[in-house]
Amino acid sequence: MDIQADSLQSAAVSMNPFAKHLIRWYRRNRRDLPWRVPLDAPSGHRPDPYYVLVSEAMLQQTQVATVIPYFNRFIQQYPTLQALAGASEQNLLRLWQGLGYYSRARNLLRAAQLLVHQGEGRIPRQVAELMKLPGVGRYTAGAIASLAYNVPAPIVDGNVIRVLSRVFAVRQDPRSPKIQQKLWQLAEGLLPPRHAGEFNSSLMELGATVCTPRSPSCLLCPVRSHCQAYAKGIQDRIPAPRNAKALPVVERVIYCLQNAKKQWLIQQRPARGRWAGMWQFLTLPKSDPLPSAIQLITPLSLRGQFSHALSHRNYRFTVKAGQARASRSLPSAACRWVSFEELNSYPLPRPQLLAAKLLIPGCDK
Ligand code: SF4
Repeated sequence: MDIQADSLQSAAVSMNPFAKHLIRWYRRNRRDLPWRVPLDAPSGHRPDPYYVLVSEAMLQQTQVATVIPYFNRFIQQYPTLQALAGASEQNLLRLWQGLGYYSRARNLLRAAQLLVHQGEGRIPRQVAELMKLPGVGRYTAGAIASLAYNVPAPIVDGNVIRVLSRVFAVRQDPRSPKIQQKLWQLAEGLLPPRHAGEFNSSLMELGATVCTPRSPSCLLCPVRSHCQAYAKGIQDRIPAPRNAKALPVVERVIYCLQNAKKQWLIQQRPARGRWAGMWQFLTLPKSDPLPSAIQLITPLSLRGQFSHALSHRNYRFTVKAGQARASRSLPSAACRWVSFEELNSYPLPRPQLLAAKLLIPGCDK
């Protein structure tokens, strides 16, 4: 069906059994994840708001299985909001290395510093307060408020969009602002006020484990009897696929230069923009020559090529290696020579990690 605004309320009311079925299923089938209440905890326990904040930051654009080891290492190093507020950005980026979308780490640090140094030292429970924190939008605020405090706040993320689009057989593009707004209304209308946290968790869990993007497991689905897409046999066509646009390809050369002392030349990226503040080997557009400050001792050798896709562009990296004179006049003030051991303590974006692995046998970065 095409959702009409005036049909939302009645649809939500008739969906009360939907919440019951979903929560009952969730209690029996939920995954044991480190940021959730343990499976054997007494009922009524709520997850630690700090754990929810950290996990939600990590889970944006990232799969649960990828996040788990990062989350565990993070909590081991920064077990509390207060500990996080005292972290150095470079150490945090090193901990986040490989997870991507590094602005999430910087925002998390700024949020912790704001709450500890200018707030009450705890994570707020109201959506409006949460949304004042850096990097916290409506979804994350709703997730923290509902999961940690059981505040009846709706959430709409990728999993929820897919589930609701199918349950209500929404054929329009869910990325359009109009449909987004209607999905938020649907999520709000379905929310059982006294079980908001469990309901939101169960909706996300269903999307992650049963109502998956391809081949949803409808026969195992606890809300199959409520699902209009299943009834019509169109669940594989919803949500409508994104119009695939050809992304621009950006060519870069990564120069891995070593001096006679076996030190590597690295440079820090600017404080703003992609991979801000992280470190890299000398990396230049393919058409740019090496800076004149670099004096090669050996010819450059090709070590490999790989692609790295971002949401709006594809990078094509060529990795070249060679020996260079350890000149004092480096290409910029952001450059330095570091040993292999030192290199391991710098936060590197994923393409630079791949370059390092191409070069250095046994590199554990
Ligand atoms: Fe998704 Fe199928 Fe369940 Fe509908 S019946 S919500 S399509 S898994």
